[in-house]
Amino acid sequence: MSETTIIQGGTLVLPDTTMKADIIIRDHVIAELGDGLDVPAGATVLNAEGAYVGPAFVDLHAHLREPGGEAAETVATGAAAGVKGGYSALVAMPNTVPAIDSVPVAAHVLELGRRSMLEVVPAGAITLGRRGEHLAPMGELAALGLTFFTDDGTGVQNAGLMRRALLYAKGLGLTLAQHCEDESLAGAGCMNASALSSRLGLAGRPAIAEEAMVARDLLLAQDTGARLHVLHLSTARSLAMVREAQARGVAVTAEVTPHHFTLTEESCAGYDPTFKVHPPLRGSTDVEALRIGLHAGYIDAVATDHAPHAPEMKERPFDEAAPGMLGLETAFSLTLEALGGGEADPVLLFKVLSRTPAHIANLTRHDQRRHGLSAHGGDLSIGTDANLVIVDTSTRSVVNRHDLASLARNTPYEGRSLIGAVRHTVVAGTVALRDGEFTR
Ligand SMILES: [Zn+2]
Repeated sequence: MSETTIIQGGTLVLPDTTMKADIIIRDHVIAELGDGLDVPAGATVLNAEGAYVGPAFVDLHAHLREPGGEAAETVATGAAAGVKGGYSALVAMPNTVPAIDSVPVAAHVLELGRRSMLEVVPAGAITLGRRGEHLAPMGELAALGLTFFTDDGTGVQNAGLMRRALLYAKGLGLTLAQHCEDESLAGAGCMNASALSSRLGLAGRPAIAEEAMVARDLLLAQDTGARLHVLHLSTARSLAMVREAQARGVAVTAEVTPHHFTLTEESCAGYDPTFKVHPPLRGSTDVEALRIGLHAGYIDAVATDHAPHAPEMKERPFDEAAPGMLGLETAFSLTLEALGGGEADPVLLFKVLSRTPAHIANLTRHDQRRHGLSAHGGDLSIGTDANLVIVDTSTRSVVNRHDLASLARNTPYEGRSLIGAVRHTVVAGTVALRDGEFTR
């Protein structure tokens, strides 16, 4: 049975402006828009007074760990964390065990996603087993609806193989997303290479390990004409190179994570492995450059790189602990904070968290429906799929890892006071989060 919902009293965030209006959702789509609409009989009422109503967020970079890593997260718990964070769609990274490099594994993750609270879109691996040796059957995976491919966790190290992958992807109309770190330069480093890493006695991963691969892949993307997406870009020079390539017309986009524009390498000074991540937290100059770039609209998307880990993977010496940190339930607040808190431009906020990532993941089209997925990142016009989020931008709350919907607890923001809150999340016309609480 299809439910009817009215969102009352909010400010809609459209692609270029804002507008006060109510929304009525019926048959999974936005059915009516207008000021002071009557409440339909039997409708669920969502209060949006004093809040923004926009397209629900889309994460290009979530590690949901299933299959193989269910001690850290499952598709169901990762999806719940996403709904709490205001997301309607997550791109699930393929570094599972086994990797998402075959039709059976991709179909399995799609099915787990259909049973979850939001829409899960698996990314396919570029190479078999993510080993960087032989190309995965991207054509077969594309037939299932996958359009985004990556070996994330590592980058494709071999330039010749990456070039062939880009040519193959171009022919199929796919996007390749790269974890840019040259392993011959990153080595066994476990934090940013700097004076601080020397003082701490920890091996460093230098900025050049990322920048060398960004430079290489921008040239390969230009040469092949294929679409490239740079995952978790973390340095000022990487950003400058991507912007320069975009100005030349190279089909490249880039994401940054909240941790890379919020936390500096100083967080590692206490040897707490919660702050270990690849690429590593950088120095304040890079962090500031990313914040300025985000504010100026130079960064295409904010993605979480949500990386849950079971406690035993993190409770180890810093250099032995697994890299990665949670992100889905804090990304909105940290992005809002970086954009100016209550003064943030709502159009830019929804652009980086929803509209552009939806576009990059090819989730804006209604023809996604043939794969059982709805359209995300929409313009809130009548007839569009109701993937919506209602957010407060003035309330504050303190992060408590025991309150997280994620199965894992490795948040680097424990005890931090965050601005803003996700009030309601609507996924494909169904209210999944109401007043911050799950509806089922
Ligand atoms: Zn990565």
